[in-house]
Formats: sequence, C-alpha cells, structure tokens
Amino acid sequence: MKYLELYIHTPFCVRKCEYCDFLSFAADSRTQAQYIHALLEEIRFYGACMREYQVSTIYIGGGTPSWLDAELIVSVMDTVYRSFSVTEDAEISIECNPGTVTAAKLAAYRRAGINRLSIGLQSCNNEELKLLGRIHTYEQFLKTYELARNAGFTNINVDLMSGLPYQTADRFADTLQQIIRLKPEHVSAYTLIIEKGTPFYEKYKFDAVKQEAGMKTDILPTEDEAYRIYKLTQHVLKKAGYGQYEISNYAKPGYACRHNIGYWTRDNYLGVGLGAASMIENVRYANTRDIYAYIENCRKLCILPQKAFFEEDSPLLRQAEGDWFGSNLHVSTDILSRNAQIEEFMFLGLRMTEGVTRADFERNFGMPVEAVYREVIEGLKREQLLLSAEGRISLTERGMDLANYCMAKFLF
Ligand code: SF4
Repeated sequence: MKYLELYIHTPFCVRKCEYCDFLSFAADSRTQAQYIHALLEEIRFYGACMREYQVSTIYIGGGTPSWLDAELIVSVMDTVYRSFSVTEDAEISIECNPGTVTAAKLAAYRRAGINRLSIGLQSCNNEELKLLGRIHTYEQFLKTYELARNAGFTNINVDLMSGLPYQTADRFADTLQQIIRLKPEHVSAYTLIIEKGTPFYEKYKFDAVKQEAGMKTDILPTEDEAYRIYKLTQHVLKKAGYGQYEISNYAKPGYACRHNIGYWTRDNYLGVGLGAASMIENVRYANTRDIYAYIENCRKLCILPQKAFFEEDSPLLRQAEGDWFGSNLHVSTDILSRNAQIEEFMFLGLRMTEGVTRADFERNFGMPVEAVYREVIEGLKREQLLLSAEGRISLTERGMDLANYCMAKFLF
C-alpha cells in the first residue's frame, strides 16, 4: 500500500485581506454549494482511480473553509471516507478564521473526524489586524480558541505574521507572549511578503524594494528589524517549549504538522478543488483556477462512465497519453526530470531543521549525495552554514538565517 496526502481547497472568504494573493474570493451560498457538489465529484473520481493509495493526512485549506456551512464540510469528509481508504491515525486539519466559527460547527468537525485546527490569527494587535484587512479582532480569536478547546480539539495551530507595516520587534514580542500563554500545540510564524496584484503591493511596493536592498524603509520594518523579529520568534518560542522544525514552523514535541512535512519530504499528494496542485509519482498536476471551468469539468466526470478509466483498452486512457488520471481536470501536467527531483529533494528537505538523510537520498536516486553535491556541501560547510553528521545533512542556525542563499546552491 502506498500513502497519499490529500489537500482539499475551498476558495471562499468573507472578503479579501489586503495582502492576500491566494486563490480566494467571496461568493454567495449558491455558488458555494455548487462548488462543493463539484468537489465531491472530483473526490469520488480520484478515490476510484487511486485504490492502491491510503490517505495518511488530510488538509482542508483555503480560503476560509470555516466560513462554509458545517454540513458542506461534513459532506466533504463523508465523501473522502467513502471514496478513499484513510489510515486510522490520519492527521486531519481544517483552517478556520475567527469570526466564522461557532460551537456547533466545531462539534460537527469533530464528529466528522477532523482532529487538528489551524486558526488564522496573524496578530494579537487589533490595529495590525485592521491594517491587514482581517475580518476579525483579537478578542474574536480568543473566543474561537476557547470554543475549539471546549469542542475537544487537542491539536491547534495558530498562524502569525511578522514584518507588518509599522511593526517593531517589541510589538511582535507582545503577540508572541499572548499566544504562548494560550499554549497552542503549534505556531506558524510567516513573514509578510508584498505580492504583486494585492492592495498592499500598491501601497508598499517602494518600501518593499528598499527593504530587500537593505536600505532604510518608511513603513515596513527594515531588513535588520525583520531579522531581529525572526530571531526573537525563535528565542521566545524555544523558551516556551516549541521546537523549530522548519523555517517558519514551531511545535510542541509530537505536534509537528505531518501534512506539511509530507510536502517537504516529497510524499505523494493529491490536491482537489479549484487551482489545487498534485504531485503523484513525480508528476505534477494543476487544476484550473476558473471556478466555472472547474465546476463544468467535474460535471463531466460525473457523466463519464467511470469504469472506462480503468480498462486497459479504454479510449479515454489512450487519449490521455500518459496522463494516468485520464481526466480533463488538469490545466498543466509536468513530468519532473531526475535533476528536478534531486533539486527538490534538497531544497525542500533543507527547509526542515532536521534536514535530509543520506540514506533517503541514496534510496531515491541510487547514488550517494556527494556524487552530485560534494563541492556544494564542502563549500557550505566551510562557511559554517551546513552540518553533515550522523547520516544527516542540515543547515546550521546561521544557514537557516541565510536559507535562500544556501538552497540556491543546490539548483543545477
Ligand atoms: S482569510 Fe486567508 S485566504 Fe482569505 S483573504 Fe485573508 S489571507 Fe486570503
């Protein structure tokens, strides 16, 4: 039996945050229901195609999945269980935003088997939340957190974001202190990236350029201040018992997110939903980002005789020419070359503080890692950015600080 991670995308949000470039938007309840109906078809379709895989983690992300009616999420989970074999100890996460969660919704999630909650907070400072365009206050987050604990969630992540306009290390320290008092099992602490096409880009693009160039900024924290915030985050969370297991992720022992680790260790993952990406046996697939095309594609799946996809002489399979999914869902299919796989193995693996193992490299590529990267490894070791011990290769603390520089060295 092979294992599979399942990502389920729900693209709907109450309104768009000022910095967000994710595939998310507001939609009425009819569109939401139509979308979920299509999503169920897609889940059923892949469940039938992928019988040799067992699902080990499920992640319902978005968007704001918690904005949807609980019955829709329950129907998604129900369809997953009916369509796939799911491991008994599967980690099953859902993202939620304060202001969209009720006790009844959380109870429904628990009954549906969801055992991990990821709460998008970003900041404990209401001014910062307003500036970000978040729909909620810190007080609403506290209420959500309390409801989640009362509903029996014992594995909670809180998302934080640093590097915000006008933010100082002291201000972010306040946010960290308030969060560690609550004792969530997991904290994700990402740095704001000013993405093109967002309102933040229009407001702060010149400052972002200055920040990147190490110059004095007007509104965003300077590069030095952003670095101070990153180091402070590491320090405060470590002192509170959170291990840093990836550049931006911290967890109490035993609570590192298995779904995320799967991405960084290049496990097979299937993404369903609008714009979702998959990587199955070193082939990447991407779904359309057009919701109407997506719904239409899934509707066609529904009317095609499914058994045709599995018969060896199926005209549909022949037509697919190597796309073993044999569906019309994907807008792109990309077969990863061996070099691309090697690069990914290194730069994704080195995001994790544990790094990569020599044994895994050899098992995957049939040769020692030094056969490909001897000079890179020696060079980074000389710069004290990389450690190579006990069969593992990992970045040093300084290497983590300069992760982009280090990872670029592993590209061909
Ligand atoms: S809640 Fe998340 S996905 Fe939705 S707009 Fe805000 S940042 Fe984007």
